[in-house]
Amino acid sequence: MRRSAGRSHTRRMALLSGRFRDPRSTEYDFISLIVVRCPGCEGAARVVPAPEGFDPGGRILFRPRRMVCRGCGLSRTWSGRLATLSRGTARPAKDPYFGMPLWFQVETRHGWLWAYNLEHLDLIRRFVGASLRERAPWYETGQKMTLVARLPVWIKRAKNRDEILRAVGRIHASSAAARPACRRPNGTRT
Ligand SMILES: [Zn+2]
Repeated sequence: MRRSAGRSHTRRMALLSGRFRDPRSTEYDFISLIVVRCPGCEGAARVVPAPEGFDPGGRILFRPRRMVCRGCGLSRTWSGRLATLSRGTARPAKDPYFGMPLWFQVETRHGWLWAYNLEHLDLIRRFVGASLRERAPWYETGQKMTLVARLPVWIKRAKNRDEILRAVGRIHASSAAARPACRRPNGTRT
C-alpha cells in the first residue's frame, strides 16, 4: 500500500510554520535605526547615521550619529569614540550614543525586554514564538555571536514563551498608544 502523501505533507507544513532559522544578524544590523525616548518631548525620536563625516572604511559602530525628533524638532549630533552597547536585561536599555532610553522596551519579572527598532523586536518575537529553533552553524563554536545567540536564558526558555510574547504585545500597544507623540490636546498636530 502507498503511504498517503497528503498526510505527510500536512505534517511537514505544520512543522515548518513553527520553525525559526537564525538569520545570523548581529546588533550591528540593527543599530542604523534606534528609536529612543526623546529628551525634548518624551515622544519617539530616531538615532540614525549622520551623513556628514562618513568614513566608508570606518566601523559602523563609530559612524557619526544624529538624533532627530519629528515631534519637537530636536536634532543633536554625536561623533565620538565611545559607544556603549547595552548588554543584559537587568536594567532599562539605552542607545549607545546619546544614552537615551530605548523606545521599544518593557519590564518583565525576569528583566527588561528591549529592542532597538521594530525589526529587532520582530526578530525576538519570531524566535520566541517558534517551536523549532535552528541555530546558525557557528553557534557552538563562538566564532560569531548572533543576536539570537546572545539573548539571555530567560528569553530562550520555552516555559517563558507566553509571558514574553505578551511582553512584546505590551511594547507594541504602548508605542501605538503614544503615537503620534506630539498631538496637541485640541487634536492638531505640531
Ligand atoms: Zn521630541
